[in-house]
Amino acid sequence: MRGFLRLMKRYASRYKRFLGGSVILNILSAVFNVFSFSFIIPVLNILFRLDDKTYEFIAWGTEGYKFKDLLINNAYWWVSRFIGMHGAVNTLLLLCGLLGLMTLLKTACYFGSSAVMIPIRTGIVKDIRLEIYNKILSLPIGFFSEERKGDIIARITGDVGEVENSITASIEMLIKDPILIIIYFGALIYLSPELTIFTVIFVPGFVWIMGVIGKQLKRRSTEAQALWSDTMSQVEETLGGLRIIKAFNAERRMEGRFDSVTDAMRRKNNRVATRQALAHPVSEFLGTVMIMIVLTFGGALIIRGTGLWGEKFIDAPTFIFFMVILYSVIAPIKELSKAAYGIPKGLASMERINKILEAENPITEKADPTPLPGFNDRISLRGVGFRYQENGKQILSDVTLDIPKGKTIAIVGESGAGKSTLVDLIPRFYDTTEGDILIDGISVRDVSLRSLRALMGNVNQESILFNDTIFNNIAFGVEGATMEDVVAAAKIANAHEFILEKEEGYATNIGDRGIKLSGGQRQRISIARAILKNPPILILDEATASLDTESERAVQEALDRLMSSRTTIAIAHRLSTIRGADEIIVMHEGRIVERGRHDELIALGGYYKKLNDMQAL
Ligand code: ADP
Repeated sequence: MRGFLRLMKRYASRYKRFLGGSVILNILSAVFNVFSFSFIIPVLNILFRLDDKTYEFIAWGTEGYKFKDLLINNAYWWVSRFIGMHGAVNTLLLLCGLLGLMTLLKTACYFGSSAVMIPIRTGIVKDIRLEIYNKILSLPIGFFSEERKGDIIARITGDVGEVENSITASIEMLIKDPILIIIYFGALIYLSPELTIFTVIFVPGFVWIMGVIGKQLKRRSTEAQALWSDTMSQVEETLGGLRIIKAFNAERRMEGRFDSVTDAMRRKNNRVATRQALAHPVSEFLGTVMIMIVLTFGGALIIRGTGLWGEKFIDAPTFIFFMVILYSVIAPIKELSKAAYGIPKGLASMERINKILEAENPITEKADPTPLPGFNDRISLRGVGFRYQENGKQILSDVTLDIPKGKTIAIVGESGAGKSTLVDLIPRFYDTTEGDILIDGISVRDVSLRSLRALMGNVNQESILFNDTIFNNIAFGVEGATMEDVVAAAKIANAHEFILEKEEGYATNIGDRGIKLSGGQRQRISIARAILKNPPILILDEATASLDTESERAVQEALDRLMSSRTTIAIAHRLSTIRGADEIIVMHEGRIVERGRHDELIALGGYYKKLNDMQAL
């Protein structure tokens, strides 16, 4: 329950107005309901001619009478007068008409109370999704190792859906049902306190039995959601690896893997659903048992004509009215018990969502970070060491390096030497575990992330493009870029011509991850993006996969233009970049083992020469 209240405080509080409206409408609906049923008493009296008493009007406020008695007496007086004047059938018609009117009012209020809940339900779900999405954007890259992606998708779909179905659906019940129960019980007590007390004796047993069934539901549904995560991870992996799966004829194996996880989920869900399905019949049966007992007990008293202690007992029509309300009370109690299931189930999902929302972001900014106004002097790495996990393998050790403004540094080394890791440290995608990185003498930890990253442009091996137009992909990092800006950047990137050849030019949608473009075209779009951003520092991860010669030349040209007049840190594979670099840094097992220019390093006859001979650059 505590978890639920916390959740409500966090999300529902901004929908206070709607909640208030729902409370009022529910109260009205319950009151109208009770009154509509009260017409049963005179109707039964007329039909069965149970009442041959003659009624006199007693003035309101006459001493010695309770308001309740006066009300009943005067109502009867009015009805019997009406019968005298218009006949019993017409009276019946009138009463039924009133019953209809009351019911209409009741259902209208009921509709209203549900309708005002709709914005709350949809709103909370949207808020949670948005919050997860923003959290994803803010968490560092290191948080998302491959297997977590599917898990996050599962949380944003499955778990949020679960919260929607169980918790937000339960809010309505939690508001409506207690109101209904209180008002109905009020009416019951008003009609016959002793019969009500007799009834209430059974309620705790009722609740207890329902609780026993609900207990395991939360644990089981947690397990089921975990399996849903596995399912989504597999889907994500499959979509990404479809090419390989097909090339290796591995469809069957993938199918088998998917079948086993979905089947485990099916079995788990069967258990959850079976238990849930038990709720309705059990509560139905318990409700009827309650009615049976009250009917027998109350009926016996009616037949006897006096209450337990010999006092006057309610008449038969009032007893039926009592039973009708009692029957009405069962539905909200039943719903409330359903909510008691739903909430733990939803809370299990909410806990999983919270694991993301409350994940700590290790890349923090200082309270008052210095904005970096620009880049004027040099980037300095001072004794940088790094490991991905605490106590993990040491990936970088004692890397000390100066990159003066305007120079190009080429980093080379065999695969796994730590090149990508090293360049990820400069924009603070990760934080160094030892040593520090300074820009113009200021530690990257002391400046605002925004101003730090504003200085840098990335062009990666795998061009990262979005399912959007070419224009938007190029203008990605620049607010309010105009068509002229984008075209100018595309021209420098050798992309303008092929873009114009596309059906809709710059408005062409490039499909998921740029699937509708060739590798070289994707590269040139991402180069154009970097050109438009015009950062003083360029971080370049050159593609190893060779493009066709035509593309290759166009991409190289574009890159050379991008690199000129910038400070460039390149994980270099092209000989022209390497030869043109002011300094080549050779990495081996996370350390700088050699540095210098091409000819010097060849002459040295060490790692670099070996890499060069193996053409492994
Ligand atoms: P390079 O770019 O030179 O090929 P990387 O910087 O990609 O080398 O990798 C250096 C080492 O760090 C490798 O041993 C690799 O397995 C490890 N590594 C890379 N990324 C991660 C990660 N996210 N978590 C743990 N280890 C990683």
